[in-house]
Amino acid sequence: SSDKWEIHPDELILREELGSGQFGLVLKGSWHDRQVAVKTLREGFMSEEEFKEEAKVMMKLCHEKLVKLCGVVTQRSPIYLVFEFMENGCLTDFLRGKKGCLSQEVLLEMCLDVSEGMAYLESSNFIHRDLAARNCLVSDDNVVKIADFGMTRFVLDDQYTSSHGSKFPVRWSSPEVIKFGKYSSKSDVWSFGVLMWEVYSEGRVPYDNRTNAEVVEALNARLRLLRPRVCPQSVYELMQWSWKEKPEDRPSFALLLHELACLEQEP
Ligand code: ADP
Repeated sequence: SSDKWEIHPDELILREELGSGQFGLVLKGSWHDRQVAVKTLREGFMSEEEFKEEAKVMMKLCHEKLVKLCGVVTQRSPIYLVFEFMENGCLTDFLRGKKGCLSQEVLLEMCLDVSEGMAYLESSNFIHRDLAARNCLVSDDNVVKIADFGMTRFVLDDQYTSSHGSKFPVRWSSPEVIKFGKYSSKSDVWSFGVLMWEVYSEGRVPYDNRTNAEVVEALNARLRLLRPRVCPQSVYELMQWSWKEKPEDRPSFALLLHELACLEQEP
């Protein structure tokens, strides 16, 4: 039954606002003796019935590099999602705030963290669909974890979901996603390549001199993001591999994880 995942609203203490995301407000809170982040889902923005079913699947996904979904409040509207609290907030803001202060080891470790979480999702046959630095969070001990996996499927606003929509994440999307809406673990791998680029450019916006339409044009002309100044050639080669035109030519997350772990061993 779904009761197992259901949190009674009385068990939650809600505190200050942490931010407001595409799904609605995010509040800091506590649940028993744990610090949590409570996502309140904007009404009418999501297909709630479908979401409730899928929340059960999402709660079974359990890995140290995924932001844990502790439970849900679905008995009344708006729905709440209760997540493990991540002290250092979203990865994009973290990178921008620490610009110039993050060592090569730390940058590589961040990519490795995300590759571990993604290798787990890949082996669980679960497609993230919106992997980007803004959808990763940083813990108090600077571990990067993946959030918001699979959530875009429930968004009803086609500005987010249509590849022509103004809010569609074109800059993180593979050619086959932009053209045919064909999502796979290999389209997640493309997004991961862009995420590695974000990490090594310390939170820059990918293709920041181009509009969304110009990004699509550039990709059609087989152009790719350039190597960030602080990025070693060996890591840039993994990015380029992730941005192969054909999904089958891209590495799996299992392989990327292995390659990144090997780079970490090098002096
Ligand atoms: P978006 O929808 O734009 O991806 P989110 O809804 O995930 O944004 O979150 C909005 C903001 O709330 C984030 O930028 C982050 O600062 C904060 N936040 C979200 N989840 C957590 C969490 N588990 N722990 C701490 N802060 C969080």
